[in-house]
Amino acid sequence: MSYDAWSAVLERLDDAAKLTDLDPDIHRMLRTPRRVLEVAVPVRMDDGRVEVFTGWRVHHDTTRGPGKGGIRFHPDLDVHEVTALAADMTFKTAVANLPFGGAKGGVRCDPTVMSLGELERLTRRYALEVSPLLGPERDVPAPDVNTDGRVMAWLMDTLAMMRGGELLAGTVTGKPLSVGGTRAHAGATSSGVVMCARAAFAAIGLPLAGSRAVIQGFGKVGGPLAFLLSSAGMRVVAVSDIGGAVCNVGGLDPSALSDHVSRTGTVAGFERADPLDPDDLWRVESELVVPAALSGAIDGRVAEDLATKVVVEAANGPTTPDADPVLDRRGIVVVPDILANAGGVTASYFEWAQDRQGFAWEEDTVAIRLRSFMDTAFTSVWAKADTLQVSLRRAAFALAVERVADAISARGLFP
Ligand code: NAD
Repeated sequence: MSYDAWSAVLERLDDAAKLTDLDPDIHRMLRTPRRVLEVAVPVRMDDGRVEVFTGWRVHHDTTRGPGKGGIRFHPDLDVHEVTALAADMTFKTAVANLPFGGAKGGVRCDPTVMSLGELERLTRRYALEVSPLLGPERDVPAPDVNTDGRVMAWLMDTLAMMRGGELLAGTVTGKPLSVGGTRAHAGATSSGVVMCARAAFAAIGLPLAGSRAVIQGFGKVGGPLAFLLSSAGMRVVAVSDIGGAVCNVGGLDPSALSDHVSRTGTVAGFERADPLDPDDLWRVESELVVPAALSGAIDGRVAEDLATKVVVEAANGPTTPDADPVLDRRGIVVVPDILANAGGVTASYFEWAQDRQGFAWEEDTVAIRLRSFMDTAFTSVWAKADTLQVSLRRAAFALAVERVADAISARGLFP
């Protein structure tokens, strides 16, 4: 990983500690993850060899509730990145006011070169190795980069088999509907991003309809997002993914682009658009930019180039700390990841709540409650920024740190 995500989290935590006059004891506790489990994941590959992968599950803080956070399969994953992502979950669940702590996990592997059977064996062995940390009241994983509902179902089934075989729906979220998933989970992160974009545009007096959007990433978040922004009347003028970038100032057709990606695996080569050098994506004129790929995409140099008014961070950690002052100086409003992409974990909370109730909610109920949680979170962060006269990112961290610190103080220190 070229960018030290854990240092970035510490820098933002330290800033929030100053802003909120945080108790130094609690500050020290939050600078240290509560549990870091590293495991070996031996997997029988299709050619008969045993490959040994490394996996992690990290609990950053679990004072406000069970650990919550995704599982990522990626060749560059390391313990610093997993720990940073776990801490982000502590702050994200606090901003969204969900009864969870922060966790994250993953395996360093390249799922793009693995067969389905290898992937299933990897998931099941990883699940066994990290199982002491998991459970509906301890830690509830969800999908992240390169994992999906199928991986979650394998994970849940493995934990269920270890404990007798019955369905253990409350152990993971982002599952298929047939095994206790929630309606409307798939598009929840993207819907939350649109709600934040709408609220930010309203707050600065910009109309969403007719404005232009640029999206980096066309995966589980970026793909549905292009549809939702187009349906809201925006022109999605440029999109990139790992394979390249395309641009159409008249607006890309999201369904045709999605068909193209299903056929070819990348947005590159889409015939109803011009090819674009991915490095030029940020210079395309727009009112909204949504990074929806990996971390560290917007650094100080990219921040100087951005030709937009609002950035809504769908990805986790897409903006490096050196970019923050540049964006501030240039008057670009940034809705930070721990607020902007909280729609996914909020839908996960709804799924966990339904599994524990044994009662499935209608799609409308999920959508209405998602809107209510996102609106409340956005309004609280905006008000905090106004009170402290700081950026939305600094305000979101300040709000989150205050909420976690309140819980730590209320519970007291054991023993
Ligand atoms: P995904 O694997 O489905 O899609 C990732 C997309 O990013 C793909 O289109 C890929 O081609 C693209 N990409 C990868 N490297 C790139 C590069 N160097 N340049 C341009 N594009 C690149 O993942 P996802 O679930 O859509 O997640 C995207 C981001 O959103 C991640 O940071 C993830 O942590 C975050 N996030 C996802 C969810 C969720 O519900 N899936 C929730 C919260 C946050």
